[in-house]
Amino acid sequence: MSAKIIDGKAFAAGLKGRVSEETARLKREHGLVPGLATVLVGTDPASEVYVRNKNKTAEAVGFKSVSHHLPETASEAEVLEMVRALNADRGVHGILVQMPLPKQVREAAVLDTLDPAKDVDALTPTNAGLLLSGRAKLVSCTPMGVMMLLKEYVGDIAGMDALVIGRSLLFGKPAAQLLLAANATVTMAHSKTRDLPAVARRADILVAAIGRPEYVKGDWVKPGATVIDVGINRVDTPDGKYKIVGDVAYDEVAKVAGAITPVPGGVGAMTIVCLMRNTLIAACEQTGVAIPAI
Ligand code: NAP
Repeated sequence: MSAKIIDGKAFAAGLKGRVSEETARLKREHGLVPGLATVLVGTDPASEVYVRNKNKTAEAVGFKSVSHHLPETASEAEVLEMVRALNADRGVHGILVQMPLPKQVREAAVLDTLDPAKDVDALTPTNAGLLLSGRAKLVSCTPMGVMMLLKEYVGDIAGMDALVIGRSLLFGKPAAQLLLAANATVTMAHSKTRDLPAVARRADILVAAIGRPEYVKGDWVKPGATVIDVGINRVDTPDGKYKIVGDVAYDEVAKVAGAITPVPGGVGAMTIVCLMRNTLIAACEQTGVAIPAI
């Protein structure tokens, strides 16, 4: 058996097209241009690439894109002052503060200052709580992307056993909430889970967000299961270069699974486009315009 490949790249391209069309319509019919502001603190090379891609995609879909770059030595007070200014800026509907932050800036202080209505990464306690209550408007981007792919490739997941490996605020916790809201029977695993391979073998849907290259092996997977690989890991290659691999040992798992997301080209492709979707929703919410179904 060879798994069906879940093409996140193609799905993300379609979603990006729909966001662009809706952005053009909002401008035409309501004079509304969604605005996304990014805040980067320091010079982490991976964060610089992420932020650049977010700004580029925002411009490509027709948003106003604003980028702020503070030095590595910026104080917490300076970062909070910037967040407050963006909270007050009516032309900015979404604010993304790129994590991780330098150690002198507390992530919790930033999230407690960020206006939840503009929290397009959905990391503030308010948005996390709304998700728990089933009332979220803004949902964390990568979990949202995963749910869209499951809907497209699996359909109704009610009653299925879903396992999420990893319990981060950014991915694992919101992903588990969304799977539960879709009526899956959800198990969360983490570094203290006993006999993870046995737990994994029960899953109809196995979601791995661990941050360890090719950790999930072929004999952990129930035949025919859907495997969603959220991991993005850089590993060195013998020629002195590097490649990006997921948290799943793709070649062996693809022989057992029914469907699988590749890395790259799976979940990762969805995240930035889901951020654009959130910014569009935030812009509509803040201006009293009906939220389009996209
Ligand atoms: P994180 O905050 O580092 O969390 C990792 C989670 O994995 C933790 O809950 C940890 O358990 C668990 N874990 C670590 N080792 C484990 C083990 N041996 N067995 C079982 N669980 C283990 O990571 P994250 O931010 O969620 O990211 C996870 C991965 O997804 C990374 O590769 C990241 O690059 C990727 N990612 C991709 C996207 C995307 O756009 N595609 C977005 C976000 C993240 P404990 O809680 O017990 O420590």
